[in-house]
Amino acid sequence: MKTTSHDSVKAIFESLEYGPAPESADAAMAWLERHGRSFGHFIGGRFVEPAEGERFATVHPGDGSELGQVAQGGEEDVDGAVRAAEQALPAWQGLTPFERARHLYALARHVQKHARLLAVLEALDNGKTIRETRDIDVPLVARHFYHHAGWAQLLESEFPGYQAVGVCGQVIPWNFPLLMLAWKVAPALAAGNTVVLKPAEFTPLTALAFAELAAEAGLPPGVLNVVTGDGRTGAALVAHDGLAKVAFTGSTEVGRIIRQATAGRGVKLSLELGGKSPFLVFDDADLDSAVEGVVDAIWFNQGEVCCAGSRLLVQESVAARMEEKLRARMETLREGPSLDKAMDIGAIIAPVQLDKITRLVEQCRAEGGRCYQPSWASSLAEDGGLFFPPTLFSEVAPSSAAAQEEIFGPVIVSMTFRTPEEAVELANNTRYGLAASVWTENVNLALDIAPKLEAGVVWVNCTNVFDAASGFGGYRESGFGREGGREGMFEYLKPSWEAGLPAYAADELWSGPNGAALGEGAPGADGPGPGGAIDRTAKLYIGGKQARPDGNYSYPVLGADGSHLGEAPLGNRKDVRNAVEAARKGSGWSKATAHNRAQVLYYLAENLQARAAEFIHRLRAMTGATDADAMREVEASVRRLFVYAALADKYDGAVHATPFRNVTLAMPEPWGVMAVVAPDEAPLLAFVSLVAPALAMGNRVVAVPSARWPLAATDLYQVIDTSDVPPGAVNIVTGDREELAAVLAKHADVAAMWYVGTADGSAVVERESADNLKATWVNGGKRRDWLDPGQGEGREYLRRATRIKNIWVPYGE
Ligand code: NDP
Repeated sequence: MKTTSHDSVKAIFESLEYGPAPESADAAMAWLERHGRSFGHFIGGRFVEPAEGERFATVHPGDGSELGQVAQGGEEDVDGAVRAAEQALPAWQGLTPFERARHLYALARHVQKHARLLAVLEALDNGKTIRETRDIDVPLVARHFYHHAGWAQLLESEFPGYQAVGVCGQVIPWNFPLLMLAWKVAPALAAGNTVVLKPAEFTPLTALAFAELAAEAGLPPGVLNVVTGDGRTGAALVAHDGLAKVAFTGSTEVGRIIRQATAGRGVKLSLELGGKSPFLVFDDADLDSAVEGVVDAIWFNQGEVCCAGSRLLVQESVAARMEEKLRARMETLREGPSLDKAMDIGAIIAPVQLDKITRLVEQCRAEGGRCYQPSWASSLAEDGGLFFPPTLFSEVAPSSAAAQEEIFGPVIVSMTFRTPEEAVELANNTRYGLAASVWTENVNLALDIAPKLEAGVVWVNCTNVFDAASGFGGYRESGFGREGGREGMFEYLKPSWEAGLPAYAADELWSGPNGAALGEGAPGADGPGPGGAIDRTAKLYIGGKQARPDGNYSYPVLGADGSHLGEAPLGNRKDVRNAVEAARKGSGWSKATAHNRAQVLYYLAENLQARAAEFIHRLRAMTGATDADAMREVEASVRRLFVYAALADKYDGAVHATPFRNVTLAMPEPWGVMAVVAPDEAPLLAFVSLVAPALAMGNRVVAVPSARWPLAATDLYQVIDTSDVPPGAVNIVTGDREELAAVLAKHADVAAMWYVGTADGSAVVERESADNLKATWVNGGKRRDWLDPGQGEGREYLRRATRIKNIWVPYGE
């Protein structure tokens, strides 16, 4: 550890070294003692003994001293907590928004009143510095509750048509224990939910202290419950069938497990996972500011930050100068005891994390990376303890483990680029997408680069800035969902129409063609079309062209009266791959202006209208609908296209009011490639209702139409072909709904997927989506009334067709 010795004031001024400045641990110690250094779970407004009586120690990573014993939660404890949350739910939801707002406000006030206790306890339990817990964590926690007191107050006017989800299970990590609690608990309570929270094994204390403070502040018993324990407790919580929502922050690996564990249970899910965020420095950047930015990006919180700027990408012409400045700055960083107010870097959370960091650093060295650590690094090793020095690697290959894996420690790898295009390519060369930071004095360049970065948060000339008014969350394998801001509130609400939907009747959804496939040219394959007209052989629609299915198989489409209406291609895995590839290539659609997209949607409506008679005829023949019903479906489809054409340039973003000199732009961006799977009923309207909003927001779509009655969708090719829809924007694969849905759910290049079909199919889609952590929206076997605009259209569809990127742009000199 870096200690100081100085003989005189003069020497101090010369060396700028300063002696120890310890914060007193008294407040935290008194609190621990008051509890006899032994804690149960906090359930139903009080501490309760764990069912099985098992406890484990929580220690201060700075010196290994034991702070107290906490309970290891088992299934029984989890069940007790969920029951308490269920019991508290009706009364909590029965409060007026004003009453709930007052509770959240009281929580904010209590955090402020007990700021010292919380800051010291956090520094002790986590090993991070008091400077950070005091100046960053705790103030942000209070800010979060203040902000969400506001959402509680405004719930009805700001979120009309939405309701609370119910009991929320929340699992949080050890890097920002209290802040992650606030990010999860505040929106959940503001929306009218109750909570069971599991803090990380290494850092349970501030959650327990917070729960106790909340009870003191008058929060009704059972509204917030805390069950402590290790990963097994988290798994038991996530598995509990009393939950309506699971929110998780932690590793991508566990995020995947949770995606699978919650599949098919009708549980709303948000995942905030790992990152390997780029920190881009262009040649015109203010390098001194950028150096301070790197300090905040990777040495803040020991680099144990999911959005840490851990990949430094510097324009070649300034790389040497940047490195020189960075090395000089590293020399002046101070690392040591958490409670020393002058420390920049504290202890690593636990031996297991220190081992992981050490292993990855050794691997990077072995792979030829040039490693720099400050001269004082060796004294850390001599002192022992869980300390790792700030580390800078250069000459690192973009594909190396150090450049790809989340190290979660104070280690940054540096690479160079020559052009902005190369910078974007390198920045996006990761499976993650949590955050990015862009340094340049050229605002045009910054605002050109920001939308091109695959990341949920982009900081321009700043880094690791957070606020309750701005959403935070990832792209790609960094997870989905947002925490903070208006966008974060939706994670704890559901549309009221979704709550009341009936289940499909037993045979309402066709189980698929299964063995009914016919080879091309087989008897009946070219049977007469409706009314004896020349049959148009339906094909797939891929990349703007009609395409034969890979297997050359088709299946008969029968009318409601059992008559043979024609054949539909039986698409397979290969066809899905081709369709996704075409959608990938159709990226121009995502870059088209909203005005252009609106024009194309209007044009589709116009051309559909022109062929209304043909579609009415088709619908009648397939579904047996009356003329009037078929006409109503076609008219509703035209109207729906108009609605999304209208909304294309009106569903826009926001400038969040964050408390800095900052324009915080919340931009809805398309997912890119989206899959939609339509149900059988209303074969034209349901298809249009799912495809149009996705298109309106700039997604390229791979759509699976009604399996039983796909011909309304295949007839649409003529409409699409004549409506200026660019190739790849819409791709249609007909066939077995469940089989195609499973392939799409697994596909790594599909970023989001909507599925409307059976309960089993919904479960498969959620489970299979875990690989690339695509965002899914499934109906859980519930039937929508597509003719009802309240269910079949609206902003919920657009919200689900986009993800918010928050771009922070500071202003002022
Ligand atoms: P985990 O993802 O294991 O832990 C996060 C939380 O999930 C903890 O509360 C943990 O409990 C709990 N948990 C673990 N397993 C399960 C499960 N099967 N079901 C439900 N909950 C579970 O992260 P680690 O703490 O193990 O850290 C490992 C790595 O993850 C780090 O090196 C880092 O790379 C990354 N990480 C990323 C974070 C982020 O913010 N993105 C935060 C923390 C870690 P418990 O603590 O008791 O194990």
